[in-house]
Amino acid sequence: MRTRRPLIAGNWKMYKTAAEAVEFVRQFLPRVDGVGDRDIMIAPAFPALEAVGGALKGTAVALGAQDLFWEAEGAYTGQVAPRMLTACGCRYVIIGHSERRQYFGETDEGVCRKLQAAVKAGLVPVMCVGETEQEREAGQTFSILDKQLQNGLKDSIADQLASLVVAYEPVWAIGTGKTATAAQAQEAHRFIRSKVAQMFGSALSGAMRVLYGGSVKPENISELMALGDIDGALVGGASLKPDSFANIVKFD
Ligand code: PEP
Repeated sequence: MRTRRPLIAGNWKMYKTAAEAVEFVRQFLPRVDGVGDRDIMIAPAFPALEAVGGALKGTAVALGAQDLFWEAEGAYTGQVAPRMLTACGCRYVIIGHSERRQYFGETDEGVCRKLQAAVKAGLVPVMCVGETEQEREAGQTFSILDKQLQNGLKDSIADQLASLVVAYEPVWAIGTGKTATAAQAQEAHRFIRSKVAQMFGSALSGAMRVLYGGSVKPENISELMALGDIDGALVGGASLKPDSFANIVKFD
């Protein structure tokens, strides 16, 4: 019996125009009709948020964004404020994805500020952590996770984090077709939960959902979801097709 409600989240990255995204929703919704025991989230690119928000209104599928900026408004060219996301109907926001860290200079400090801003706006933060291949080979997986959690969550207090979702995404498994083994995923998830327990107490860490991300597909979701500390998945490539994403959502 699961103690935490699973969350299956699709990260569409820089794919799909607003029209393509709405067409996905039209095909996807009937495929997940009646799925009531798990949460589903889709995070399209910013220009598609409003249209997808409209298409998802009144359905069980929630809208998420892929990033946000921590200021409420101002002269910050190219940035998107938390309340712009909530105005589109967003419930979730992904923060600190490894692609943001790798290509756009996202730091743990930025992750921390974004997390605070998200929570303040009433958004559920999906905070991404994970080691690179080089770090894993150097035996640094746990020290990297420790640092990312310690610095990313450092200014947060437990009652602000009630909705926190953490996504463990080993960078070497993202978009590569390589998936962490069940044992690798489970031990990383357990470490994340124990670190959060150490920082904020076991009530919060016991309720917190920890998602796995990295080449999740219909073929491997059930094995991952069978592990005690895996509460869902953050899915990139395999969330782009209605059939494949629906089959992941419907894991058993
Ligand atoms: C991701 O982008 O968060 C991800 C896990 O991608 P993929 O599923 O394509 O590996």
